[in-house]
Amino acid sequence: MTDQPPTGLPMTVPADGLPARVRIHEVGARDGLQNEQAVVPVEVKAEFIRRLAAAGLTTIEATSFVHPKWVPQLADAEQLMGLLSDPADTTGPAALVNPAAPIGPDVRLPVLVPNERGLDRALALGVREIAVFGSATESFAKANLNRTVDESLAMFAPVVAKAKDAGVRVRGYLSMCFGDPWEGPVPVGQVVRVSRALLDLGCDELSLGDTIGVATPGHVGALLRALGEAGVGSDRLAVHFHDTYGQALANTLEALRHGVAVVDASAGGLGGCPYAKSATGNLATEDLVWMLHGLGVETGVDLGLLTATSVWMAAHLGRPSPSRTVRALSHKEQ
Ligand code: MG
Repeated sequence: MTDQPPTGLPMTVPADGLPARVRIHEVGARDGLQNEQAVVPVEVKAEFIRRLAAAGLTTIEATSFVHPKWVPQLADAEQLMGLLSDPADTTGPAALVNPAAPIGPDVRLPVLVPNERGLDRALALGVREIAVFGSATESFAKANLNRTVDESLAMFAPVVAKAKDAGVRVRGYLSMCFGDPWEGPVPVGQVVRVSRALLDLGCDELSLGDTIGVATPGHVGALLRALGEAGVGSDRLAVHFHDTYGQALANTLEALRHGVAVVDASAGGLGGCPYAKSATGNLATEDLVWMLHGLGVETGVDLGLLTATSVWMAAHLGRPSPSRTVRALSHKEQ
């Protein structure tokens, strides 16, 4: 046991069998905001991303180059990337951000691209990291991409190849890895097949998504074991859990025990609006950081700065953050 921590930090009591450090893949600006009803001004998004970087997050998914007709919340992708790459732009609190180097070169700003057109838009802006978005189930592939699973893989192939040729890092997202709203439980073998296919296309990293939040830890362990047996090591995997049924942290801990060291989370739980029927419940980054720091797992994140950022963003969205940790810490300060 350690001494009593400063206010606002968990006690640190390490557990065996966990990675020493976890890289958090912050999805609030993309996955979060695209699922919020409010459309946030581009200047606010730029400041949000700068604040996240200032809080110590090193991978911040910035936006999506999907057609604005499908995701109007992210129609300002070009403008946002321009603001983020402009060293003269000083959007953001001066105390947190050095205007001469607004976002350091060590901070990765991946963007989602749905197809070759989206990739071309991203490459034209000098983007160094992209993500493609696949589905483990036929129903969601049809609903989201209007293609079969294999047709969507065929669509991604030239996108991944072109990105790799340009020296761009590629992340593959795989949705519906545990349950699907139309098909119910998703067989582990089916997820392994599509995972293998996405990695074989050339994806550097694969993020396993529990899109409807139904996974429980035994299921997570079974999938990770099956992936390992199929030659997919945990060093190429990330996990993306939703807290719809309160299982996201338990599932994350199980993944850590299997060697996964990249975890997706959304600052303040953005994208999981408790007042919207479409609530998807992204795991809140603050809740994740509280657990990881309590376990002695390094993240590089300053929980106080991150929480302040989520409180600030909640004011812009006009509603409180659904994150338990944000609520507990911000309540404490009042
Ligand atoms: Mg999500």
